Amino acid sequence: MTAASAPARSLRQLVEIPVTRLRGLGERKAKALGELGIESIFDLLTTFPFRYIDRSRRADLADLAVGDEAVVLATVRETRARRARNGRTLVELAVHDGTAGVKVVFFNQPWRARQLPSGTEALFFGRLDTFRGRRQMTNPLVDVVIGADDVDDEEVRRRRTLRIVPVYRASGKVGLSSWEIGGFLEEAIRRAGVLEDPLPDAWRRELGLIARTKAMRDIHVPGSIRETVPARRRLAFDELFRLQLALVLRRHALEADARAIRHQVSPREVVEPAAGGGTLVQRFLAGLPYRLTEAQRKAMAAILAEMAGPLPMHRLLQGDVGSGKTVVALAALLAAVQGGHQGALMVPTEVLAEQHSLAVAALVGGLSVPDPARLGGSRPLSVALLTNRTGVAERARLRTDLESGDIDVVVGTHALLTDDVRFHSLGIVVIDEQHRFGVEQRAQLRDKGRESVVARAEGPGAGADPDLLVMTATPIPRTAAMVLFGDLDMVVLDELPPGRRPVETVWAPTPDAEAEAWWRVRTEVAEGRRAFVVCPLVEGSERVQARSATEELERLAEGPLEGLALGLLHGQMPAADKERAMARFRDGTTGVLVATTVVEVGVDVPEATVMVVEDAGRFGIAQLHQLRGRVGRSDRASWCYLLGPAETPEASSRLAAMVQTTDGFELAEVDLELRGEGTILGARQKGRSDLKLASLRRDADLLEAARRVAESVAGQDPGLAAHPALADEIRLFLDPEEEAFLFKS
Ligand code: ADP
Ligand code: MG
Repeated sequence: MTAASAPARSLRQLVEIPVTRLRGLGERKAKALGELGIESIFDLLTTFPFRYIDRSRRADLADLAVGDEAVVLATVRETRARRARNGRTLVELAVHDGTAGVKVVFFNQPWRARQLPSGTEALFFGRLDTFRGRRQMTNPLVDVVIGADDVDDEEVRRRRTLRIVPVYRASGKVGLSSWEIGGFLEEAIRRAGVLEDPLPDAWRRELGLIARTKAMRDIHVPGSIRETVPARRRLAFDELFRLQLALVLRRHALEADARAIRHQVSPREVVEPAAGGGTLVQRFLAGLPYRLTEAQRKAMAAILAEMAGPLPMHRLLQGDVGSGKTVVALAALLAAVQGGHQGALMVPTEVLAEQHSLAVAALVGGLSVPDPARLGGSRPLSVALLTNRTGVAERARLRTDLESGDIDVVVGTHALLTDDVRFHSLGIVVIDEQHRFGVEQRAQLRDKGRESVVARAEGPGAGADPDLLVMTATPIPRTAAMVLFGDLDMVVLDELPPGRRPVETVWAPTPDAEAEAWWRVRTEVAEGRRAFVVCPLVEGSERVQARSATEELERLAEGPLEGLALGLLHGQMPAADKERAMARFRDGTTGVLVATTVVEVGVDVPEATVMVVEDAGRFGIAQLHQLRGRVGRSDRASWCYLLGPAETPEASSRLAAMVQTTDGFELAEVDLELRGEGTILGARQKGRSDLKLASLRRDADLLEAARRVAESVAGQDPGLAAHPALADEIRLFLDPEEEAFLFKS
């Protein structure tokens, strides 16, 4: 009755209560907890055990065989402390549990004599072994149940016996034992009382989740191991739900504030390409040198449908390396252009910008757009390149043409974001290799649309948001993507163009094994193919990296690749030199490109069939997968050689995984496994929003459920006005800016 009538406590209230309010928690302990990041009762309650000792599964001493590990509840009959010959203290107990007796020995733990005087009843957790033919337990874990001077109190007995003991990741450094943390938690649970449960009851029942109060108790003070399972599930759900709700709200806030351009395009244009006539998109597709894959067709249709729709597009196009994202992006860019708008394609590196602008120019060459000012009423579609290396005069010209609308598609790097770049009417922004860009840059580029000349002409605030398509080749598992990019819809290219053969991958840890790699490079180059050699990662600046690449080129030219035409590519080269190096490699003047990781993303030279990665153990899985993706881009056989030994077990696992599979999604799972999830979430998640219990791998079903509930709740109640407790709780996990953005009304 008392529990029911007391007001339920919100998480915010728990955040506001410092741990020092707990009994027995003095300044010193509080400081130690502080070092573990635990300051409030909330922090304490969300410090979860990482395993449990099941002391309830205690055994009878008479049943134990030598070698068994068990928990026994026994009474101390005799305690003796003595000094062994080597000077160490020895505490010896004779204990009996009513079925049999055993000797318990502690080395170097003199306090045991005081802790366990004759008459004490305790749980001993350890292994039964023998010494000189006698059964004994050495250095067991001990939990005193009834101290020698405790009265035989039923309550003490109940609390201290037959329980599951949670084990916390305590740190010896700060001088706190798992026992102490457990003790604090037990008290915190008791004092916290009933917790507010902001998850609507109907959902709780539908998902079969237990109440929060019970979950919190059962995870810290479980009556049985079985009880910890639904407890963990409920609390993990809460973590994922808060996250998803924040993402869904964020998306709603973006949409509420947005005015979309309804692009003049229809998904039918993908299905019915019309040679000669038709829309720009149709003419473009009809002119492609290959047939689209089914996956490309579907992705394009989804994108074009959304572009034509009433809401601004926020979409993630995910496709493994080589799956053909560029052409999908181009269709989207042209869909904007055919309605009289412009498109921007932003990429992370100059090499990639250069390559894309070449590829785009080649693919759209011959296409024209209406221009009433011209004789004949049309002009060629115009594609421009803008990077930080673009010269002053060229840049001035580009600025003018972007503002007047004479440029239809611009490909560029971060340079697109600078203030002096203005558009006539920016209709779509495509960002390639999204993982290299932050959310702010995404927003910055979008703002360019709101500030377009056309938008401003319509009056203040009239600007519409350009559609947004972000592309990533980083094969993020769906569950992780839901967390990282939960505010974007996703479309996946899950099919490679036909005829692709998996890249044969060889790990060559020794110099002898390397010989095959160099032989392969020579053979393939002799056949007119190309090879990449990626230099070892070196610590230090770009400059240091560049110097080492130059040295590596010299070493190879005098050694294993003597006589071959080698080219060099690194980030420090002037843009013109980079362009020249890429062009010579593309046309085969140089057969081998010795490069730093600048070739990691996007580089597309179909004739390349060999990728050699030096000192591969130092690269991450995602990076290796990207590098390997530079070959195998045609129907010819390709090879990837990973050179050098693995210095760590993780490196060895990474390389083994690379050899075993070319499937990016599988590799991403391995990567997640090896790195742990903290890292993947690190950038996005701060402080309180960390997933402490939830695992993106194990709790995929919970994540989907959380998403569903979040969509439903926020869909019916976008400001969470009818769910004040929920709103309050979400706010607790947001940083102030995000909070202001989501709850501005
Ligand atoms: P990514 O998804 O890695 O960006 P790209 O768009 O660079 O892939 O495409 C990889 C290669 O496949 C390019 O050489 C491209 O011309 C080619 N390609 C794309 N789509 C197809 C297709 N449907 N059939 C054959 N080749 C294709
Ligand atoms: Mg690409």
